[in-house]
Amino acid sequence: MDGLDKAADPIDHSANMQAKMEQAQVDSIRREAQKPIPTSKVCLYCAEPTEAGARWCNGFCRDRWQAGRR
Ligand SMILES: [Zn+2]
Repeated sequence: MDGLDKAADPIDHSANMQAKMEQAQVDSIRREAQKPIPTSKVCLYCAEPTEAGARWCNGFCRDRWQAGRR
């Protein structure tokens, strides 16, 4: 009986570690998904086309967009 108990411990431990690592990966993917989009072809606020990957056509749209996200 004692031998069985000892054998079960490392298995439980590694399964627990595996679950923790998977959870950490899910968390990091979720954090990535919640990051703002770095570049865009159109203003994220008014949908006007923008240049050079800008996310907003001007500071007004950026401010309004950020205000709307809070
Ligand atoms: Zn705009």
